[in-house]
Amino acid sequence: MKCPKCGENLSYLKHYESGEMKFHVSLDEHGDAEYDEQDFSSNMTTHDFECPYCQAVLTTEESEAKKLLQEEVKISKIQIGDKLV
Ligand SMILES: [Zn+2]
Repeated sequence: MKCPKCGENLSYLKHYESGEMKFHVSLDEHGDAEYDEQDFSSNMTTHDFECPYCQAVLTTEESEAKKLLQEEVKISKIQIGDKLV
């Protein structure tokens, strides 16, 4: 896909999501706190899919982001086909 804002070719999008991270905290052998990541729960305040080049928010829906990324897959398949011909 091409970014509609800056025209760069995109093979991935940047995703920003707000919410809470859950850790298990314990002490290691030196008495330092150790954080063991357990879980992330989104609060859906920020759920942006952005262009990695110009940071434009292209969508906030995962289904829409998938569609945008699938366009790239289709284009790649056509290019592979051209090489075979
Ligand atoms: Zn862009």
